[in-house]
Amino acid sequence: MTDHPVPTITLNDGTTIPQLGFGVFKVDPDETERIVTSAFEAGYRHIDTAAIYGNEEGVGRAIASSGIPRDELYITTKLWNDRQGTESAFAALDESLTKLGLDHVDLYLIHWPAPAGDKYVESWKALELLQKEGKTRSIGVSNFLRPHLDRLLDETDVVPAVDQIELHPALQSTDLTEFARSKGIQIEAWGPLGQGKYPLLEESAVTAAASAHDATPAQVVIAWHLAKGNIVFPKSSNAGRIAENLASVSVTLGADEIAAIDALESGNRVSGHPDEVN
Ligand code: NAD
Repeated sequence: MTDHPVPTITLNDGTTIPQLGFGVFKVDPDETERIVTSAFEAGYRHIDTAAIYGNEEGVGRAIASSGIPRDELYITTKLWNDRQGTESAFAALDESLTKLGLDHVDLYLIHWPAPAGDKYVESWKALELLQKEGKTRSIGVSNFLRPHLDRLLDETDVVPAVDQIELHPALQSTDLTEFARSKGIQIEAWGPLGQGKYPLLEESAVTAAASAHDATPAQVVIAWHLAKGNIVFPKSSNAGRIAENLASVSVTLGADEIAAIDALESGNRVSGHPDEVN
């Protein structure tokens, strides 16, 4: 376990979230309990899952067997696109809670705006009610671009606590992150390591900082996110890398090192565009 505490960020509803957590996208459901248990043993307390990942039950079993007090854990799950709508969103969160073995999650997100169905405003109003009922402490969105956020801000009451978006050095979405933050919406960066889909960890800006700090390239990229104020939850199924990624909290990059990684922006996504995922 790392000696450095994981920083927390205060959300616009007054709750706090650990800035570094563990994501379980593409973690095999049969392996999830074991892998999340190793993440807890390494010291993670924040887990990011989703109904569509099919592994909420494994996360739930790891929580149950961990013995970690509920209020020391931070659990996020997400509403999948085909459950958008009022009644379906209520039912979907109940199903997720049953699978997780919890009476509430800490953060519930609309996974994608899914604009073809045009139900994200209605779904958001359902999340507002679920928050009031205590089934989730915070509510937020994922993969929302400026026009999607504008509609929520114009047509609903609660400002999302977070927007979880694809964000890594090649795709920093600076205009969107600045707008969101100006409205009090924190940024969660998914795919923080670019999902391993481009040679980010071989970039000289990354490897030079890694040598200078006696750190690994992955730790440098995670430290860059932390310095930027992003909330991150890199995924790995490997116990060594799980611990390595958490230890990124002890790496403090200099302004010149951060600027060199900023310069890796290319505007290239590694996954789907929010206007096209339905
Ligand atoms: P990531 O950027 O975290 O990349 C994961 C990959 O990076 C791993 O498969 C592994 O190959 C590699 N890796 C991890 N640690 C490493 C290390 N120390 N050294 C070298 N390589 C390493 O991608 P991700 O898993 O897609 O994103 C993180 C989390 O974000 C997910 O698990 C999930 O919780 C969330 N997510 C959300 C959405 C969304 O639509 N909201 C989409 C994708 C992911």
